[in-house]
Amino acid sequence: MHDVAIIGSGPAGLTAAIYTARAGLGTVVFDGMAPGGQLMITTEVENFPAFPEGIQGPELMQRMRQQAEKFGVEILPGEITSIELGSQPFTLQAGSKKAEARTVIIATGSSSRWIGLESEKKLRGKGVSACATCDGFFFKDKEIAVVGGGDAAIEEATFLTRFASKVTVIHRRDELRASKAMQDKALSNKKIAFAWNSVVEDILDVDQNKVTAVVLKNVKTNERSKLPVEGVFVAIGHEPATKVFKGKIELDDHGYIVVKDGTRTSVPGVFAAGDVKDPRYRQAISAAGSGCMAAIDAFKFIEGEEAWPGW
Ligand code: NAP
Repeated sequence: MHDVAIIGSGPAGLTAAIYTARAGLGTVVFDGMAPGGQLMITTEVENFPAFPEGIQGPELMQRMRQQAEKFGVEILPGEITSIELGSQPFTLQAGSKKAEARTVIIATGSSSRWIGLESEKKLRGKGVSACATCDGFFFKDKEIAVVGGGDAAIEEATFLTRFASKVTVIHRRDELRASKAMQDKALSNKKIAFAWNSVVEDILDVDQNKVTAVVLKNVKTNERSKLPVEGVFVAIGHEPATKVFKGKIELDDHGYIVVKDGTRTSVPGVFAAGDVKDPRYRQAISAAGSGCMAAIDAFKFIEGEEAWPGW
């Protein structure tokens, strides 16, 4: 029986673990299907405070893990295959490993949707990105492309014009899905161009280990063209990792966990932190911050205070 079971070992899960363990709570972490989370497939991280020289994503996660282990956190491998949240104690199972816990912190994260090209995979972190906030800075005065037509794509394209000399939005239809206000802003931005009815068939150039162009196919005419760019931002949506929680806690229409007062889910004693409940910020530092919040909320719950006084 643990005080806290944490599901997920990205910045949210491991920060929560550091806090609960230091508060003297028996803590187990299930490290999930992608231990370390999205930073494990990130190269240079320049915006995590305390690393003025920058740090590689995997090294940052390794350090967080070491810090959690130093305080006695038990980290078990594996993905949660079933969970019972109907009564206390909660029970969790990852393959043959079972655990019981008085509180649960869900920090399973989300993953970016990708186009699905081999070249996209090979050039990730070398000009292909799914995060303008993280990587826009690397594209000062360069021509780049954004794939997608929703709010995220248009928001990222608009943000990227702060750095890039030109941003081409590549959308598979001739109409954007993004809100009218967002569209108007983008359509009147002189640095943003549109490639309508177009899909990316290939990203060049894997041999040079950098992005030099995208090959576009017009889905109406089947015509192919080459658009020279030095970066490609894929913004075609995210998938929160919440399948196993469906029907057990409240999720929104996009599958994100609904939280109240920061981290409290619809089940008392179950908290959520990081990207699994956050379609908006999606940053390592904001995930880590909400991991800290979930840990404090779990501690308060165990102490018999469901919420902070004054809430
Ligand atoms: P989204 O609204 O689902 O839009 C995804 C876009 O990607 C759509 O334009 C879609 O095309 C396109 N797409 C999907 N799969 C594709 C594929 N395989 N190849 C090419 N294009 C593909 O996702 P989102 O933009 O990430 O937004 C998610 C949610 O967050 C939405 O509710 C959104 O309103 C919200 N959000 C709000 C803000 C804001 O208000 N500031 C900012 C970001 C996100 P189709 O249009 O043809 O389907």
